[in-house]
Amino acid sequence: MSVVCVVGTQWGDEGKGKIVDFLAERADYVIRFQGGDNAGHSVVNEFGDFGLHLIPEGVFRENVINVLGPGTVINPDALLEEMDDLRGRVPGLDLEARLSISERSHVVMPYHIALDHALETSRGAMFQGSTKRGIAPVYADKAARSGVRIGDLLDSDYLREYLPHIVEAKNILLESVYGMEPIDFDALIAQCREWGEALQPYVVDTFPMVQGALASNQNILLVGQLGIMRDLDWGHYPYVTSSTPTAAGACVSLGIPPNRMDAVIGVVKAFTSSVGEGPFPTEQDNAIGDRLRTEGSEFGVSTGRPRRCGWLDLVAVNHAVAINGPASLALTKIDLLDGFDPAVFAKAYWLNGTTIDTVPDTRILETVEPVYDSVAGWDETSAGVQEWDDLPGNARRYVERIEEIVGVPISLVGTGRHRDDIVVRGLPEGW
Ligand code: GDP
Repeated sequence: MSVVCVVGTQWGDEGKGKIVDFLAERADYVIRFQGGDNAGHSVVNEFGDFGLHLIPEGVFRENVINVLGPGTVINPDALLEEMDDLRGRVPGLDLEARLSISERSHVVMPYHIALDHALETSRGAMFQGSTKRGIAPVYADKAARSGVRIGDLLDSDYLREYLPHIVEAKNILLESVYGMEPIDFDALIAQCREWGEALQPYVVDTFPMVQGALASNQNILLVGQLGIMRDLDWGHYPYVTSSTPTAAGACVSLGIPPNRMDAVIGVVKAFTSSVGEGPFPTEQDNAIGDRLRTEGSEFGVSTGRPRRCGWLDLVAVNHAVAINGPASLALTKIDLLDGFDPAVFAKAYWLNGTTIDTVPDTRILETVEPVYDSVAGWDETSAGVQEWDDLPGNARRYVERIEEIVGVPISLVGTGRHRDDIVVRGLPEGW
């Protein structure tokens, strides 16, 4: 009887996938509220090792309904591929019973992907590190009221009327501005019809579904992608995504009133990683960063790109806490700090000879220096530990020091990749 929202408090890749997979045991619904297949969520459970891009993590549980909400953007090819992969690896998986797609979610069209490539290339030295999955162009078209929604795929006649002037404009851009191949209109319509036929069993108006779940006090888990530093308004623009991975964003995207959200859980990785461009004050472009990346398998789930790694940045976490108001935090990957001495974190930034404890705008963020603090490291292993008292003493102190600085309790501590590698100190009320 609870609505819980899980958000990232750093640059993304905090380990939300595992936390959501764990919490999904008690969920009736797991609902993804923004983003597309540009990032992945890793889940390791009894069925294997998965990198989910679009399908919510509740898909592994028989009684959980998984929803792609109106604020998501869907590349149908990527979704269908992910569905096939899951069918092949999860015995008895009845996707039609477990997955619903909002008719209001937007379609990543082939021209969005082509334009994403072209735009990123045209930026030259000012490139942003786009995943080139068409995410910025599809959200831009949504805001410009030129988007195609998943529900539209079921009506080819409508698309034949709606799309010509849009495709014409995209082709002028593709051909004349970027020197690329134009989109063939008839082939595009045929492709849309094919996608519509394949996805039709899953496409519904999710609004009554979600409102019904709220009215009957179901356990609803809302899941965002990426983290606060990639938020369109509150991240380091322009090195951000084109949607809002915050708890407030979940309410807007899903039509859930803010007063129905019972708790937010902020996921914090015990160190920081960032994939793509943009300022990263605690980056360790050295042996420390290399070790965190290699031992932590810090390579993009969607792109395979190596992630930049560095110490935990509590200024960024505090930024996320201020914006999302989490009741508790889930700290992941504490096992990756085993053997580091000391265990380091940043608690403020130096800026022009003074300290600041908030995240400034991008070009100023590029100039700050972290103010580091630390606790003594530990040699014992925390890998696979499930009880608080079994964690190394200094690892517990590291957790408690973060709680002190951030002012939010850490209720879950991740100690490995598997669903069961977790210390549970508390669950949200009613969960
Ligand atoms: P997400 O995008 O926030 O879901 O994060 P990712 O899927 O990119 O997760 C980052 C990586 O950390 C994945 O390989 C996870 O399997 C792994 N991971 C998550 N939690 C833990 C943990 O507590 N310990 C270890 N060692 N790995 C973890």
